[in-house]
Amino acid sequence: MSSSSTPTPTPSLTPTLTPSLTPLACGAELRKACDAARRRGERVGFVPTMGALHAGHLALVREAKTRGSFVVVSIFVNPTQFGPNEDLTLYPRDLASDLARLEPLGVSAVFAPQPAEIYEAGEDTRVHVGRVAEPLCGSIRRGHFDGVATVVAKLFNLVGPSVAVFGQKDYQQLLVIRRMARDLFAPIEIVGLPTVREPDGLAMSSRNAFLSPDERSRALAVARGLSRAAVAFASGERRARVLEATAREPIERVASSIDYADVRDADTLAAIEDLTGPRALLAVACRIGATRLIDNVVLGVDAPPLAALAG
Ligand code: AMP
Repeated sequence: MSSSSTPTPTPSLTPTLTPSLTPLACGAELRKACDAARRRGERVGFVPTMGALHAGHLALVREAKTRGSFVVVSIFVNPTQFGPNEDLTLYPRDLASDLARLEPLGVSAVFAPQPAEIYEAGEDTRVHVGRVAEPLCGSIRRGHFDGVATVVAKLFNLVGPSVAVFGQKDYQQLLVIRRMARDLFAPIEIVGLPTVREPDGLAMSSRNAFLSPDERSRALAVARGLSRAAVAFASGERRARVLEATAREPIERVASSIDYADVRDADTLAAIEDLTGPRALLAVACRIGATRLIDNVVLGVDAPPLAALAG
């Protein structure tokens, strides 16, 4: 059928295509809306994101809806958490599709500011979290967690949530935010949710959109490495270096580089030799082609990510 013979959609069809959730771009308006909600006795929940929303983000929003009646989602690709050679300009952005995904979840407000709204001319403050921000991504992406903590603190102050929901996919980020909230006496409950995965086990990530079909199948090695280590742990292996090598082996075969595959204390991220003590995190960051992926398991707690090994 030629385009000229395609019937023009009638106006009554358009509402399903055009999301009615109008994003706020102004911080003062957002604060006003949240203040009004609190005055009505509503409990404010908050989910900060960088957009390009997937089922992992939506799980956080659903959780926030069970904990608060007025849920705010922010969509902001935060420039200060990207290094000079990172993918700030390439980062996927699709506000229309994000709004369409949020619409059915009953979100009360979406905040999608421009960078100049968050980083006003003359602003000159950064939030620096200490030890827990130092290893892993903190040592590779210098300044990253200062950017994360700063933007989350700014957003917390605009929204004033009672509860904020984050993903364990960004495990170190969750610990950094918990530390910041505790240290700054933020009256906010910080909730962490398990990583949502594709059916085969790949952790959902906005950056997965960058993977070619071949890279997409190679990326499964991350879940495979974590799963093999989780199975080894379940079989009694407690040596950190052995578990790290077990995770590394399949990833090394397909990754262009590995930033880390480290076992750490799951609460402090301190280095550990053997896992006879507190809970241990196994965290991986690597590049598949040019795309940087991160993933993790808490050993003895999380199921092996690879669908075939999850049991
Ligand atoms: P981002 O948009 O990547 O900054 O992520 C926003 C929030 O979604 C963060 O709290 C992430 O940890 C969380 N998140 C990202 N991917 C997942 C996932 N696969 N499962 C659960 N939460 C996720």
